[in-house]
Amino acid sequence: MRIFNTLTRKKEVFKPIVPGKVGIYVCGPTVYDYIHIGNARPMIVFDTLRRYFEYKGYEVNYVSNFTDVDDKIIKRAIEDGVDSSVISEKYIEECKKDMKALNVRPATTHPQATKEIPDMIDMVETLIDKEHAYEKNGTVYFRTRSFKDYGKLSHKNIDELESGHRAEAHQLKVSGEDEKEDELDFVLWKPKKEGEPSWGSPWGDGRPGWHLECSVMSKKYIGGTIDIHAGGEDLIFPHHENEIAQSEAANGTEFARYWMHNGFLKINNEKMSKSLGNFFTVRDICAKYDPQVIRFFMLSAQYRSPLNFSEELVIAAKNGLERILTCAEKLRDVIGTSDDASESELTLEEQAVLDGIKPYIERYEEAMDDDLNTADAISVIFELVKYINTNINSDSSKTLAKALYNTLEKLSDVMGIIIEAKSDSLDSEIEALIEERQQARKNRDFAKADEIRDKLLGVGIELKDTREGVKWKRI
Ligand code: AMP
Ligand code: ZN
Repeated sequence: MRIFNTLTRKKEVFKPIVPGKVGIYVCGPTVYDYIHIGNARPMIVFDTLRRYFEYKGYEVNYVSNFTDVDDKIIKRAIEDGVDSSVISEKYIEECKKDMKALNVRPATTHPQATKEIPDMIDMVETLIDKEHAYEKNGTVYFRTRSFKDYGKLSHKNIDELESGHRAEAHQLKVSGEDEKEDELDFVLWKPKKEGEPSWGSPWGDGRPGWHLECSVMSKKYIGGTIDIHAGGEDLIFPHHENEIAQSEAANGTEFARYWMHNGFLKINNEKMSKSLGNFFTVRDICAKYDPQVIRFFMLSAQYRSPLNFSEELVIAAKNGLERILTCAEKLRDVIGTSDDASESELTLEEQAVLDGIKPYIERYEEAMDDDLNTADAISVIFELVKYINTNINSDSSKTLAKALYNTLEKLSDVMGIIIEAKSDSLDSEIEALIEERQQARKNRDFAKADEIRDKLLGVGIELKDTREGVKWKRI
């Protein structure tokens, strides 16, 4: 597989540190509100990367953090008059619900910054010992110029950065960082302010800087050198540049071998922002569209390209997804209706049909191997769907239909697209509501029982009370 490495600005052949294994660290969201549709892009893209590595037989250690201590969380907690952990815990749970809806699998580990403070203090101490950091009145700064390779990821020249910073110098003073030795230095540890969460440290009560969190958590859960570090392109500078500086200065080893950055999601060709009124949470969008459509839409472009979110493009994704789902349904019909006798050896003609899917699989893998080109891989799935539609009919054998179905399922699953019939989970939801209605009737709460019946009717489910119990049908 070839990956575009931000560090070298080239597509490079991926070579794992340990053969057959890959450690991936993806910067996760700051949890002060529901995640927005832009945050969903790295989640979906890198979940697909993980699935593809697994498809290729790798064992993947996938780590993605929650930033649960941050100015925005503290601000929100003060506004709501609660402890900041109440805000972060709530939005971690909400974020997990959105991830589930988008079929983003839980990470191997989802570390939280507030639970890793002792290791953060350790790394700051190491940096001070090695003279890469210093303390001034309870704040610890990283001595940026002490790290010779600073700027290697963002391809920035340290002197240009210096002059850029000088222009912003007055701003830095306002933010209380005017004691720094150098304008380029950044904070590793901040002293406590009244009303803020804090932890004890050798430099007094305080909290870690954002960049430090990822350096510490990736080391703890993956190792001193990680295979792939990923996130949105806005994180290249300063976040990832600072992570490299801290980690390499502290550990003395290369921090991450491949850096992958997703392009930004725009809304109707504009930057998403609350003030422009084009800011959408995943929750809002999933109420309007099937989350599977959103996932499919996100993968309709290669991850480094900018992606524009518009109704028109989402509808195009919906139609595309339906073509795949209709094909899957057709195969299921053949599997369900063919008599058992047809689950036998393939005829020569059928064997030829089955052999005919190999080039599609090869081209799909070629696309995915080329820096995770999901856009091309999806086009190959469409071609495969066309091939299946022309080569399968009600007389086809169960064996052939099953083999084609399994391939379609395998390729779709890498994309996080579920082709199996939805009814199972829907059925269990309906059964649960019917059970609730029965309970209400038993308790003579007829108002509630009627309310549940009407609710089901509203989604096209009609109930019928029979001697054998309640039966339901779609209308
Ligand atoms: P944040 O909570 O802002 O740190 O963002 C969490 C992740 O979402 C990071 O990897 C960001 O780069 C990414 N991200 C934020 N906004 C967008 C966007 N509009 N498009 C794509 N990725 C985004
Ligand atoms: Zn990070």
